[in-house]
Amino acid sequence: MSFGVAALWLLGFLVLFNFLAYRRLGLGAFTLAFLVLLVAYSQFGHGHIAWKVVLWVLWGGLAFLNVRPLRKTFVTRWIFRVFRRALPNMSSTEREALEAGTVWWDGELFTGNPDWSMLVAAKAPQLSAEERAFLDGPCEELCRMADEWDITHRRGDLTPQMWDYLKSKGFFAMIIPNKYGGLEFSAYAHSCVLVKLASRSTTTSSTVAVPNSLGPAELLLHYGTEEQKNYYLPRLARGEEVPCFALTGPRAGSDAASLPDTGIVCRGTYQGREMLGLKLNFSKRYITLAPVATVIGLAFRLFDPDKLLGGDQTDYGITCALIPRGTPGVTIGRRHFPLNVPFQNGPIQGRDVFVPLDFIIGGPKMAGQGWRMLVEQLSVGRCISLPSNTTGGAKAGTYASGAYSRIRRQFNMPVGRFEGVEHVLARMAGHTYIMDAARSVTAGAIDSGERPSVPSAMLKYHVTEFGRMVANDAMDIHGGKGICMGPKNYLARGYQVVPVAITVEGANILTRSLIIFGQGAVRCHPYVLKEMDAARNTNRVAGLAQFDRALFGHIGFAISNAIRSFVMAFTLARFTRVPDHGSTRRYYQQINRFSASFALAVDVAMLSLGGYLKKKENLSARLGDVLSSMYLASMVLKHYENQGRPPEDLPIVQWACMTLLYKAQEQLHSFLRNFPIRSLAWLMRLLIFPRGLTYSAPNDRIGRAIVDSIMTPSATRDRLCDGIYRTLEPHNPLGLLQEALVLSITAEPIEKRIRVDGIKTGRVTALDLPTQVQQATAAGIITETEAAMLRDYDRKVMEIVNVDDFAQHELGVQAMPAEPTAQIA
Ligand SMILES: Cc1cc2nc3c(=O)[nH]c(=O)nc-3n(C[C@H](O)[C@H](O)[C@H](O)COP(=O)(O)OP(=O)(O)OC[C@H]3O[C@@H](n4cnc5c(N)ncnc54)[C@H](O)[C@@H]3O)c2cc1C
Repeated sequence: MSFGVAALWLLGFLVLFNFLAYRRLGLGAFTLAFLVLLVAYSQFGHGHIAWKVVLWVLWGGLAFLNVRPLRKTFVTRWIFRVFRRALPNMSSTEREALEAGTVWWDGELFTGNPDWSMLVAAKAPQLSAEERAFLDGPCEELCRMADEWDITHRRGDLTPQMWDYLKSKGFFAMIIPNKYGGLEFSAYAHSCVLVKLASRSTTTSSTVAVPNSLGPAELLLHYGTEEQKNYYLPRLARGEEVPCFALTGPRAGSDAASLPDTGIVCRGTYQGREMLGLKLNFSKRYITLAPVATVIGLAFRLFDPDKLLGGDQTDYGITCALIPRGTPGVTIGRRHFPLNVPFQNGPIQGRDVFVPLDFIIGGPKMAGQGWRMLVEQLSVGRCISLPSNTTGGAKAGTYASGAYSRIRRQFNMPVGRFEGVEHVLARMAGHTYIMDAARSVTAGAIDSGERPSVPSAMLKYHVTEFGRMVANDAMDIHGGKGICMGPKNYLARGYQVVPVAITVEGANILTRSLIIFGQGAVRCHPYVLKEMDAARNTNRVAGLAQFDRALFGHIGFAISNAIRSFVMAFTLARFTRVPDHGSTRRYYQQINRFSASFALAVDVAMLSLGGYLKKKENLSARLGDVLSSMYLASMVLKHYENQGRPPEDLPIVQWACMTLLYKAQEQLHSFLRNFPIRSLAWLMRLLIFPRGLTYSAPNDRIGRAIVDSIMTPSATRDRLCDGIYRTLEPHNPLGLLQEALVLSITAEPIEKRIRVDGIKTGRVTALDLPTQVQQATAAGIITETEAAMLRDYDRKVMEIVNVDDFAQHELGVQAMPAEPTAQIA
């Protein structure tokens, strides 16, 4: 009996504690609630008096924590001291990278309790009439002009007409404001242009992406002097200048901040005038547009050994300048050959290149600000260029594969009807949806003023990785058709360019292992940056007060996340509050659950491993994957809302969310399995997976529903692949595939009649379709009109299915001299 009563009191305590923690009520509320409980227990509980005294002492400790001056002096001060000592030194470069950009939805996911109203209220991205006209006009025309086989195989370059068109229509000036003669497009429009171009020609889209991304125009706009802006921006907008940006060199790739290129402040002569300037020595490689660039954005390390700039510093750090191509000492013009996709890319060297000081972007006052400028601009550029190009390629691959798998028959069936192919097609559609959702919703956020740096790393990594999977899948579905190169191959160049997207703007392994979580943990965490700022505050008193606030906020936050994680995992997140979005409601709830579990894991990992976590890249990478999965699933849900929740698209949304949440579960599980402090790993496991692993990957039924809409001319297919170049014209494979797909709907029942009434009954005996059609017409199984339709359809299908062949000399392969015949002794 007394045991039962004690258990009831304990239960009461646990319920109260869980309720307060789950609802994130503050220390004051905890203290008050426990006071009431303790008074009741002292009055009515049957515990021993000594036990009651212990509880009152504990409560006294809790009450003491409410008195801030005492708490600061007797508790926080000690923790503050240890924290300051343990905090690793952070270089200004690292700090600038961490502080670049803004925190957006990514920050909510770190809270363990995301405020969905923020995402729900975010405006759907939209095109203005002018932007729409550009996509339907010049962009469409440029796609028409682009013959990828001619560009990649014969010419190794865009045609002169394309170069002229790119420059004159402002393709290089999408981010330049109208007042300088640019197009001043929204981030979303910029992204849509790249999507369309990438669906037609990866060489063209890569060429267009660079000047509109991280490069001279972007840097000038944000940091340039008025004089620099007024000179360069109109010239860039008119295409009179072609820019490139040179950061990478043979010794500084991923670790670009360690570049050995130097600029020494000294006196010298420029264009016959003696002046204070910079002597530059540099060696760069992989620089896109370098061979044709007229102006080079250059990153180098600035030194002022003689203190000619008037300061005390001698090493200013990374600095960016604009160097005209013809400057004496600059060697430029040779080309690299990036994987058969010959956009202009090459090395640049400079030896004792002397330029005036005001060639520094922003003038001498911006000396040493280069790294900050680059990482800040990367937070926008990285959300657009590669994610858009890759999404364009994925949309084209999915559009083509959906049609191809319907019109390509084997074993008397469209290949897409085989379960094996169906599985792959569903995956392509699902991945394409995720990519499109991520790039468009995030572009919309940029248009609302965000500069989302952590999402930019997530998009860079995941969208290009999904792009790689879509490219592989498209190749598999097309079989030999995808492999044999030639004008008829619409996949191979897109497949070949995948590693370029994986490598540039932060190679993917590094981005996953080091950047996504590493930057997110500090930047997005509601307390960590505050604690670090407090610890670095040179005013100790203010620092202590700041730290005290952050620390106690953090402790409450961690307790709450532990409880929220456990409760939501136990109840499968059925009761957590989310926007009421009908059929997708559960996915919102599951993101809530993962957000709490993730926040708990982050705190435990940071607290227990500290700086060592940076070295444990696989743990960071897995936490980054969990964060990214939640982010991408949120983008999918928002995209679905933005598109008006079409019920036909629901299977793709379900597939995407289930795949992402399943991945979040698996990565969190792998994180726990590899967590080095096993006791903590088990504790986390209890709080995160009390019922084990409860999520599953999407089932085959969902896959089948998706594939039906991708292999049929449907609204879902159109929406998923919206924005690609699919105009019906003789040289556009996407248009021709769609035409054949539409015809297949009429042709299939006629073919079936030939099979059932003709072949199976022995009235049609031929093995090839044209003769079967002839025999079926003669036997009255199909009409003359139907026969004509089927012949036309078959001709169109075979046009698509056929591949190219070449004479030896057409391949540009030199005939080898005959081997001398071996002498037989
Ligand atoms: C076609 C093309 C176009 C380019 N255009 C430009 C341009 O216009 N301007 C410009 O400045 N640069 C450009 N680049 C350079 C590009 O940004 C670099 O290639 C990229 O930063 C990687 O450097 P790297 O190739 O030297 O690889 P490395 O730095 O040698 O890296 C090798 C591998 O190690 C991994 N790695 C490195 N460090 C870590 C780590 N700490 N943790 C985990 N993994 C790690 C990387 O992810 C990569 O997989 C271009 C490159 C290419 C190929």
